[in-house]
Amino acid sequence: MVAAVVLSSLRKEFGGAPPVVAVDDVDLTIRDGEFFSMLGPSGSGKTTVLRMIAGFETPTSGTVQLGGEDVTTRPPYARDVNTVFQDYALFPHMSVLENVEYGLRVKKVARAERRRRAMESLEQVRLPELGSRRPGQLSGGQRQRVALARALVNQPRVLLLDEPLGALDLKLREQMQVELKAIQRDVGITFLFVTHDQEEALTLSDRIAVFNAGRVEQVGTAREIYEQPATQFVAGFVGTSNLLTGPGAVALVGSEGTYGIRPEKLLVHARGAARDSAARRAAGRLVEVVYAGPVTRYVVDLDAGPRLVALQQNGSGGPELERGTEVELEWDPSHVITVPSAPASA
Ligand code: ATP
Repeated sequence: MVAAVVLSSLRKEFGGAPPVVAVDDVDLTIRDGEFFSMLGPSGSGKTTVLRMIAGFETPTSGTVQLGGEDVTTRPPYARDVNTVFQDYALFPHMSVLENVEYGLRVKKVARAERRRRAMESLEQVRLPELGSRRPGQLSGGQRQRVALARALVNQPRVLLLDEPLGALDLKLREQMQVELKAIQRDVGITFLFVTHDQEEALTLSDRIAVFNAGRVEQVGTAREIYEQPATQFVAGFVGTSNLLTGPGAVALVGSEGTYGIRPEKLLVHARGAARDSAARRAAGRLVEVVYAGPVTRYVVDLDAGPRLVALQQNGSGGPELERGTEVELEWDPSHVITVPSAPASA
């Protein structure tokens, strides 16, 4: 099957003092029909990659292929992609239906056909009854759906989404994440999604590319990225990791190197109340207890040196532990992640 998007040695430098290497020789293959996320901190180059795929930015070197064709030098309108921006960019003076139709009008599609396809697109985003409203009469979530419908109406090969949920409050955002995933499954179009929110990327994506300083550090499924981070950066950026190096690693893992253990894999209990004889154990003191509804977060200073965070489910009837308690952390050695010290080639 032909890949939806292939980026080969894609590079972008911006002039100025000092010059910036925004994208540093990125290679990526995005499969047809995939929900693919580019995840990374602010300034890591995700948006610049997206803009080069859309044609808004010209690469310094390297190529962009869409559906097997090299489109590197083509203008945006000659590429089979559409972009959904965080600020929606709807036309305020047009109705919802006119906004959605817009791309078809530009392409001189006949009026009846335009209406039919715009309605279909509004149904896909579950908003069929609001076609006559203006954008100003919609909620943030509804506006986001209209922007999505407008971008889907041409049935592009790839939909580019640049932090599309960034302007929504948390509750709505979580709701839209579920919807977005369902819509993508329905329409079957490749979604290429930019976010700095690791939880969002983990929830939505078939695969994720983790960006750091213009480079891709790892490509994989949510599970692969979370459970087998390829670099220290990925281990720290995706989820919360307890990273162990130096003497702390030697004391707790038994050998030199860099290791990670996820907070939910650590069991915390009062000293002497050990439960599993096969587990490893370390003594320490609770320096912080944060109750957060379904879970409680414990920060433990170990006698052996490192400070570790443990996350425990609430409601299982365990004793409440207070700050200052002498505790033990317990873990299954198979849950310790070995973090490679040099980035593996992604
Ligand atoms: P964010 O999540 O904040 O949007 P990002 O990962 O998308 O970040 P980019 O917007 O791609 O990052 O920016 C990558 C780097 O390139 C940054 O250092 C940024 O300042 C720089 N940059 C982006 N656009 C330009 C430009 N037009 N001129 C100069 N530098 C730029």
